[in-house]
Amino acid sequence: MAPFSRRNMLAFGAAGAVAATAASANAASFGNPDEPPQGAIDANAGSRLDPGPKNPALASQFPDATNPPATDVGDMPQFWASFNNAHKRIQDGGWARQVTQTDFPISKAVSGVNMRLNAGGIRELHWHQAAEWAFMTNGLCRVTVLDTQGRAYVQDVRAGDLWFFPAGYPHSLQGIGTDGCEFVIVFDDGAASEYNTLLVTDWLAHTPPEVLALNFGVPPETFRSIPLNDLWIFQGKAPGSLSIDQEAVASGGLPANPFTFSLTGATPHRSSRSGSLRLADSTNFKVSKTIAAVLETIKPGGLREMHWHPNADEWQYWIKGEGRMTVFNAGPRAQTMDFRPGDIGVVKRNNGHYIQNTGTTDLQFLAVFKVAEYEEISFSDWLTRTPPAMVAQTLNIDPSVLQRFPRDAPGVVPV
Ligand code: MN
Ligand code: MN
Repeated sequence: MAPFSRRNMLAFGAAGAVAATAASANAASFGNPDEPPQGAIDANAGSRLDPGPKNPALASQFPDATNPPATDVGDMPQFWASFNNAHKRIQDGGWARQVTQTDFPISKAVSGVNMRLNAGGIRELHWHQAAEWAFMTNGLCRVTVLDTQGRAYVQDVRAGDLWFFPAGYPHSLQGIGTDGCEFVIVFDDGAASEYNTLLVTDWLAHTPPEVLALNFGVPPETFRSIPLNDLWIFQGKAPGSLSIDQEAVASGGLPANPFTFSLTGATPHRSSRSGSLRLADSTNFKVSKTIAAVLETIKPGGLREMHWHPNADEWQYWIKGEGRMTVFNAGPRAQTMDFRPGDIGVVKRNNGHYIQNTGTTDLQFLAVFKVAEYEEISFSDWLTRTPPAMVAQTLNIDPSVLQRFPRDAPGVVPV
């Protein structure tokens, strides 16, 4: 899609294609509002040269950073990060990598972890200060968790499923099936680290054996062979059937609400011919009291409509396809960045944004918010639910044309 600029606008205007708009808008600024103009499209050839050192493989991934749209303006904190270049901690049984606020300052509300567990691979029994929300991208995983009333929950999750463990609830994860699993974890604290969790092995190894004996009512020798260094991730054996594991922990009763949820199985709360939005927050995934999430699918040619979120920052995990996002803030500030699978984006609360599918396949990403209930304001919905005379004189657009704007916040356009 060729962006409009002052130059091609004048060409269109000369051809009469958009003569009416050209007459009413300021032709000198259409599609390029700033003085001096920004964007290569209005610069002379010399301004576009870039002879200095560069890494062509990396630079080629970010066309909208190296050659921003002419409507981009001003400065903005970096809102792109990625698991693709995050350092991996590989152990027997699986691996993990993470992007926390230390790596990505804008990501204050939440941090992200990408983990794989082999078939049988175990993420050791542990707990931590932050709540843990996760989305499965591959394979099968068995999760165990205990609530504060001594009720245990054991479940198997597959690609498209979520889990949520409130802060402090002890849990474990194990890759199962033929190929284990991969997932992304979101902690409801930007500083939270997967490398700083309270581990069952650490506590046992740092408690005197006689205290362990008293605590568990068995002889001290029972603990002669416990690991002295933590396991964190280790290769285990495939567990038995789910029902056997569930029976083994059933004595405390079942938790009131499940700690897992099928996000891909949820009915979309927005759907159009250009894509869909699937929601999981505390209204339908009741235990998820500090995280809300939307799985967004945008078909080729589709646009995630201009919108913002009044109650939380948006943290994104890009799953498939490719696209670009433009973020708008006061200033004016507007910046566009390119995203691919494994990348992470952040949009601050109330900053306007839209996302274009720039590829030839479906674009899919997760939008995650540290909040109990999802909230969104659709730009189009707002302008169609404001008295038309108000909008018409503000924008210098005929009220009959405003009537054609999409209503009811379609989510992904064209509808
Ligand atoms: Mn955990
Ligand atoms: Mn959004």
